[in-house]
Amino acid sequence: MNLRPPSASAELAILVVAAGRGARAGDGLPKQYRNLAGRTVLAHTLAALHRAAPEALIAPVIHPDDLELYQASVAALDASAARRLKAPVFGGATRQDSVRAGLEALEADRPGVVLIHDAARVFASKALIERAIFAATAHGAAIPGVAVTDTIKEIDADCAIVATAPRARLRAVQTPQAFDFELILSAHRKAAAAGAVELTDDAAIAEWAGHRVHVFEGDTGNMKITSAGDVGLAEARLIRDLQDIRTGQGYDVHALGPGDHVWLGGVKVTHDQGLVGHSDADVLSHAITDALFGALADGDIGSHFPPSDPQWRGAASKIFLAAAAANVRARGGMIAHIDATLVCERPKVGPHRDAIRYSIAAIVDIPVERVAVKATTSERLGFTGREEGIAAMAIATIRLPL
Ligand code: MG
Repeated sequence: MNLRPPSASAELAILVVAAGRGARAGDGLPKQYRNLAGRTVLAHTLAALHRAAPEALIAPVIHPDDLELYQASVAALDASAARRLKAPVFGGATRQDSVRAGLEALEADRPGVVLIHDAARVFASKALIERAIFAATAHGAAIPGVAVTDTIKEIDADCAIVATAPRARLRAVQTPQAFDFELILSAHRKAAAAGAVELTDDAAIAEWAGHRVHVFEGDTGNMKITSAGDVGLAEARLIRDLQDIRTGQGYDVHALGPGDHVWLGGVKVTHDQGLVGHSDADVLSHAITDALFGALADGDIGSHFPPSDPQWRGAASKIFLAAAAANVRARGGMIAHIDATLVCERPKVGPHRDAIRYSIAAIVDIPVERVAVKATTSERLGFTGREEGIAAMAIATIRLPL
C-alpha cells in the first residue's frame, strides 16, 4: 500500500482535462459525465490512467458547475486510485485556460513529466502511457499520432478540392500529450501573457513557445468519445471487457407490527401495519443488498452494517443498497440486472410496482429496464400467509473485469 500523501513530489503527473461543456454525446450532460457500463466516462478515464501508471499523481480539471457530478464520479473509484487523485482544480473559459490552471496547481508537486489527457478518452493503455513518458523524457515535448488511413483533401468554401495532402506525412493526433513539466508550464504562462489564444492543443502551445514537438506512436484503440455513436461503441467495448459474470441471491424477512406504513425498495407504502426492524426494515432493499454482496462474494448486509452498531438504528436502507452498488463499481464492474420478489398477502404491491422499480434503479444508479419487482402471496399459508411478516427474495447479476 502506498501511503505517500498526494502532495509529495511526484515524478509523473497526469492532468485530466474535464472542464468542457460538450453535450453532443447525448442526454444533456457534459459528455465526461455520461454513464457508460455503470460508471461515468470520467471515472473510466481516471481508472484507466491509474491502471496504466499506478504511481502517477492524477490531477483533474473540472468545470465549477460540475462539482457534484465529479464527486459522484470519483466515488466509483477504488481506494488505490482515489489515493493518487488530487483535489480537482476549476478550469477556465477555454481549454488552454483550464490546462494552465491545472499546471499551476501542480507546480507545488514538482513533477518531472506531465501528461495532459482528454477526459473523453477512456481507453488509454499502459503501453501508450509508457511511450508518452519515454518520449517526454527524451524530447521534452511529444504527442501521440496515428497514421491516417483516409486520404485527406483540403477544400475551399464551395467544397471544391484545392489540395491533396501527402498521406504518408500526416498524423491524426491524440492525447496524452507529454511534456517536461517546467517546459510546458512556462510555455503556457508565456502564451497567456502574450494573449496567444488560437492554440488548440498543448503541442501548439509548445510550438508557439519555440519548442520542437516530437510525434510518437499513438494507439488506434485510444478513441475519443465525441458523438452519440462513439458512446455506443465505447460502451460495447467496456462491457466486452467485463467477462466475469456473476449472480448473487438475497433473502430477508421482517415481522409486521404496529404502524401505518412499510418501506419497500425505498418507497413508503401506506399500510395498516409496519415492519419491525433495527433500520427502517425495508425487507426488499435488504434482500437486494444481500444479492449484490453475494455476487461480489463479499460478506452480507449484517457484516457490512452490523445491527449492533447504533449508527444504523432507524437508518434508511437505501444507504445499504447504494453502498453495495458502489462496491460493484469500485471493483470496476456494473450491475447488469436485479430481479426481486416480495411475498406477502398485503399490502398489494401491483399499484406501487413501478414506483418501487424506479426507486431501486435510482438508488443503485442503473436504468429502470434492468430492475424487475414481482410479488406473490403464499396462499394464506405460513407466516406470510398469516400476515405476521413479509419476505423478499432477490437475484442480482453483475459483470466484473476478469
Ligand atoms: Mg433485514
